[in-house]
Amino acid sequence: LRSKHYYSFGSSLHKVLERLHDSRDGGVKTVDQVVAALEESWIDAGYGSQQEMQEAMGEGKAILASYVERIEESPPAGVTILVEKMLRADLGPFVLIGRVDRVDEWPDGTLEIVDYKSGRSAISAEEVHHDLAMSCYQILVREGFPDRPVVASILAIRSGTAATASLNADELAEFRLSLLELGEIILSRDYDELVPVPNDLCPTCDFLPLCRRHPDFNLS
Ligand code: SF4
Repeated sequence: LRSKHYYSFGSSLHKVLERLHDSRDGGVKTVDQVVAALEESWIDAGYGSQQEMQEAMGEGKAILASYVERIEESPPAGVTILVEKMLRADLGPFVLIGRVDRVDEWPDGTLEIVDYKSGRSAISAEEVHHDLAMSCYQILVREGFPDRPVVASILAIRSGTAATASLNADELAEFRLSLLELGEIILSRDYDELVPVPNDLCPTCDFLPLCRRHPDFNLS
């Protein structure tokens, strides 16, 4: 599949933020250090031209520089305990796996899942509350820390805007059930018999080259 520049851009920024918040990595703290770290971990796949890539790199440096200035002015309330951590939860018929960007521990013991978004500037608590990935992360973190309150935050790194929400016990149980139902459908489907049906999303879908291989798929 063809690389997309926005994935490269997001992954490059994520890598620097991982180092910035990793207590074992003391080398990325200041604006100069994050700028150097971005150059080091820059992924150049998917850009249309050298100029487009240079502009993105400049934008990435500016985003990270403001990020550092913001946390210097008002440091996060919690202490980071996990960065870029793969978590798993055995749900019975299948294992749920996800990688969290960051988990902070607040002074009262609450665990805050922090998810970085590089492509957007605004976010609301309502969106976090209904976000599929954030709900999965809450299941995963609660699995590892069953006695802790868990909240989830999305942080729009361009603007520093963040929103936090948390599923209550009933909502979590309901979400877990829906996840199990969906998982069962995915597990029991006969993929050899599946025919891809052209729809409005196909022109921008990453899997289009695969679907085109099916003899009955005809996207005019
Ligand atoms: S190209 Fe993408 S959206 Fe279209 S049928 Fe295939 S998987 Fe679905």
